[in-house]
Amino acid sequence: MEKGITSRAEDFSQWYNDIVMRAELADYSPVKGCMVIRPYGYAIWENIQRLLDKRIKDAGHQNAYFPLFIPESFLRKEADHVEGFAPECAVVTHGGGKKLEENLYVRPTSETIMYAMYAKWIRSWRDLPMLINQWANVVRWEMRTRLFLRTTEFLWQEGHTAHATAEEAEEETLKMLGIYKEFAENVLAIPVYDGVKSDAEKFAGALRTYTIEAMMQDRKALQLGTSHSLGQNFAKAFDVKFQSKEGTLEYVWQTSWGVSTRLIGAVVMAHGDDKGLILPPRVAPIGVVIVPIFKDEASRAKVLAVAKQCKEAIGDAATVHIDDREQYTPGWKFNDWELKGVPLRMEIGPRDVEKQQVVLVRRDEGKKEIVAQSAMKGRVLELLDETQRGLFERCKKFRDDNTLDVDDLREFAAKMESPGIFARSHWCGSADCEAAVKDQTKATIRCIPFGSNEEKGKCILCGKESNRRVIFARSY
Ligand SMILES: [Zn+2]
Repeated sequence: MEKGITSRAEDFSQWYNDIVMRAELADYSPVKGCMVIRPYGYAIWENIQRLLDKRIKDAGHQNAYFPLFIPESFLRKEADHVEGFAPECAVVTHGGGKKLEENLYVRPTSETIMYAMYAKWIRSWRDLPMLINQWANVVRWEMRTRLFLRTTEFLWQEGHTAHATAEEAEEETLKMLGIYKEFAENVLAIPVYDGVKSDAEKFAGALRTYTIEAMMQDRKALQLGTSHSLGQNFAKAFDVKFQSKEGTLEYVWQTSWGVSTRLIGAVVMAHGDDKGLILPPRVAPIGVVIVPIFKDEASRAKVLAVAKQCKEAIGDAATVHIDDREQYTPGWKFNDWELKGVPLRMEIGPRDVEKQQVVLVRRDEGKKEIVAQSAMKGRVLELLDETQRGLFERCKKFRDDNTLDVDDLREFAAKMESPGIFARSHWCGSADCEAAVKDQTKATIRCIPFGSNEEKGKCILCGKESNRRVIFARSY
């Protein structure tokens, strides 16, 4: 294409990079592995934050902030946790020109620093549940990075809760996964499979990890969010105890859960096309762009006046931007806003002014329609709604069409290679079989899905008995 965007069919990965760069979502930074989130990309993140933060607070959590630095001894207190995270940590050895007595790790996640404080704050059952969320940056040293999907530093939210009983903690873990699923589907317009991770794929230090998994347009899986049932592992390591109603001293039961700026990458890969981004109206920084069309000064004034009236009429119901830049032609602007994925374009020219009408064009379908100015606001809001739903439906159909029951390993391997699928296959539960499948096909178990029926079958690898199918895919 003239705009220098590789087509998805030609090279999906290059297409993704082209879109992220050209739509000005992010850029490579002078620091290897770290990205700069540009204003347009950050505006999407702000919308994600605002809408998710409300859900987190409505579910009873409060926001707080904990230190970026974690003493090495903290990380070492939970054996699985340090083993999982230490190799990918950045470590501070010097401060103020002197070698530190104890190394400080730049947080890869905040369980340890937060639970050291929980141990101080939690005394009795009256202090429970403790429901805290943090919006922060974290650092995980990555060798191979991709904008938004895998960078050394990224932004996220991490919720950390403590409860009196195992049942309450489990309920919280599942409740938060449910909120992530609702958010992914209703706000980002991305359908997800929810379920539990296999032991090999779970969080370092957790009893169980629950996940939501989405299919991107290259048929690979992207993990959008996880929620961990931590049991008492960290409570024991950090001595987080409370006095129960009965007067006994007990360890708390904990959960943690998070989503990150990776969600922006998901929106790009789930919805975009060869012309650029397609943003779901609920997270789009601009919902409607008005492109005025005029030839001379007289028509310019008239057209701009109507554009302003339309923007005012829409008011707070959608974010409207009037593109009155004079140095660009309307055609150039159309392309530019298509690249940026604005869900709805309104064109107003001298003839539209005369006829008291506007032209509306949906980004996802490209269909034009002429609407009387008197009916404009209602129709704009309808089209935004239809776009939001349409994106979800299109994405869901694509995923469902590419989620297949596969019972033969050779067929499984071939389809994973091309065109790529989510395979619902039997698995006996053995970590060896799981590792062998990954070795042979690069596919991993994305989740053991909720709500899947018990079904007798044979493990895709070893042929031993299995009583349910799990979802395998190649993933980001
Ligand atoms: Zn097996």
